[in-house]
Amino acid sequence: MKPKNKFQQKAVEASKKLPPLTPAQERWAYTKVIEPVGRRTENGLVYCLDCGEVFHNDTKRKHCNCPNCRTKLYIEDTRKQKFEQRMYAIYITACEGLQVIRVFSVDYYAKVGTAPRYSHTEVMQRWIAPNGKYCTLARNRVWGTMYYDSWIYSSDLELHNETWAYDQIDTSDIYPRMKLIPELKRTGYKKGFYGQTPKDLFCALLTDNRAESLLKMGQDDLLRLYLNDHSRNINDYWPSIRIAVRNGYKVTDATMWCDYLDMLRESGKDLHSPKYVCPADLHREHDRYMNKLARLETDREIAENLPSYLRKETAYRKAKANFFGLVFSDGHIDVRVLESVREIVLEGKAMHHCVGSYHSKADSLILSATIDGKRLETVEVSLSKLQVIQSRGVCNGQTEYHDRIVNLVNRNMPLIRKRIAA
Ligand SMILES: [Zn+2]
Repeated sequence: MKPKNKFQQKAVEASKKLPPLTPAQERWAYTKVIEPVGRRTENGLVYCLDCGEVFHNDTKRKHCNCPNCRTKLYIEDTRKQKFEQRMYAIYITACEGLQVIRVFSVDYYAKVGTAPRYSHTEVMQRWIAPNGKYCTLARNRVWGTMYYDSWIYSSDLELHNETWAYDQIDTSDIYPRMKLIPELKRTGYKKGFYGQTPKDLFCALLTDNRAESLLKMGQDDLLRLYLNDHSRNINDYWPSIRIAVRNGYKVTDATMWCDYLDMLRESGKDLHSPKYVCPADLHREHDRYMNKLARLETDREIAENLPSYLRKETAYRKAKANFFGLVFSDGHIDVRVLESVREIVLEGKAMHHCVGSYHSKADSLILSATIDGKRLETVEVSLSKLQVIQSRGVCNGQTEYHDRIVNLVNRNMPLIRKRIAA
């Protein structure tokens, strides 16, 4: 494709001035991006495919240094004779006032008994103008295969219309020394990619004031959330972010903080007040509001369907009252039987899972596991089988206490059995 504007023309011209990789850049690709292989046999002997040294290493570790050539080896436990790797090595540099992301395909071929072969070829360049516009120079690719990166190495680096495929190339192995254009330096950017590709991050910083502001304010985790979670509207949080910054408050868990602000808004709290916006213990305040809103919602639902709720409550009491008062503890974790439909519905809302409807299950006993009153998991026991059917934490997940909770309930099953007989 021929250049269509001055910027593309400039990128194509500048491309010819880019130097080959320095020895240090090349060494990095061959030792850090590629992982030279050490082949381990069943008796724990490692054969270094780089220098042919044989040494003993029967640890479980997947990496070790060759005592002869000092190469860091990736250990493969295999009888295989040939090893191949193809990786991408990324170099970030500046040229003629443009930001460049250079992408090299790095190849490794090693065979037992011969010297390994390393090679690299530049396959793609992303050129970014100070205004955030970008274009792509790349080699041609083989069409019609299932791979988007079957490069034709004999083709030249040419201007290509932006396509989906170029964005799919893995750009996670980035050479640690970068050269940046002044416009990018002025955004306050130093390092890190916030879950973005270098191209997307740089373009965002050069074109989006919000991204640049978050970076300048040192709110790294908010920047990460802003760039990665497009379901949230940053404008909803912006006034509170400014309050936080003014009060020297750094948001370390942006997802939880934004969820917390949403709950403050729902509770009618002042989103401009540092008292609410900058909690000393975010985790605790988040949980406190979550429980509060769950209680309000449960009671609202109950009030709206009071006659039917009262019927359910009576039925539940009749079916499960025998088990009320049952509490198991190992001194740390407490597990207790939930004693009303309201408690079960509340548990489901607070834990974001569907236990709320389980009060009508005849064969099930529902218990709540807590530490210091904080909910961990909800336990369902089958009364006919006297077994834990499931134990689930927030959003149906498992906590680190899962096995202990299940064991605690199983150990105390005789107490449940006794209540059935009563
Ligand atoms: Zn070696």
